[in-house]
Amino acid sequence: MNEKLDSYLHKGRRRQLINYLREKVGVRDAGVLEAMNTVPRHLFIESVFDEWAYEDRAFPILSDQTISHPSTVAEQTSLLELSPKEKVLEIGTGCGYQTAILVAMGADVYTIERIKNLYEFSITLLKQLNYQPKKSIYGDGFLGDNSESPFDKIIVTCGASEIPKILFDQLKIGGIIVIPMGKGKEQKLYRFRKLDAKQYTKEEFGTYAFVPMLGNIT
Ligand code: SAH
Repeated sequence: MNEKLDSYLHKGRRRQLINYLREKVGVRDAGVLEAMNTVPRHLFIESVFDEWAYEDRAFPILSDQTISHPSTVAEQTSLLELSPKEKVLEIGTGCGYQTAILVAMGADVYTIERIKNLYEFSITLLKQLNYQPKKSIYGDGFLGDNSESPFDKIIVTCGASEIPKILFDQLKIGGIIVIPMGKGKEQKLYRFRKLDAKQYTKEEFGTYAFVPMLGNIT
């Protein structure tokens, strides 16, 4: 990428963020750290935030949505236990940053966004930066993508009030779904592992504040 778009200053700040994620947050997954050291997060947010793009902060993106904190992206992605070439369904493309991280890690990504302008924004940017997912879908993530299921992994980047059953049905046996769930403004992050058609293990991780998972497209 040319120096104007991704300068030495950006690269330096990115490296500092990676050190912070490793030393202070405790992120261990080398593939996640490498992908986050490669993807230029500052290009996914408005240029007024450029200076702070590599701090552990969330920023507003289009339509009152937010790009997640880098530590949240690192945590969620690590929980997926990703291997290259795995088929991953992402619910909530947003600006496309998390999508780019998954693509950079070699996953085959299918991503769904319910807000038209974010769907369009992410398609254009991901193509420009060469982090194209296999498929970008403008639609309701509660429905998943039946035509492409089953998936090895599913990541939900918005807070659900309950378990979206269809998504569990679209997961392979042995597959993992990482999803924030909770009724109020805050959610707990969960990892479910599918044991068979009916049984799952459930692990609980930290408390987060994601934008809500909403039905209907706009
Ligand atoms: N991973 C994104 C985070 C965006 S915030 C990023 O890196 O920018 C979560 C996104 O989930 C928002 O863009 C929101 O519009 C979307 N969303 C909420 N409910 C959804 C649903 N039912 N289906 C698809 N996307 C949804």
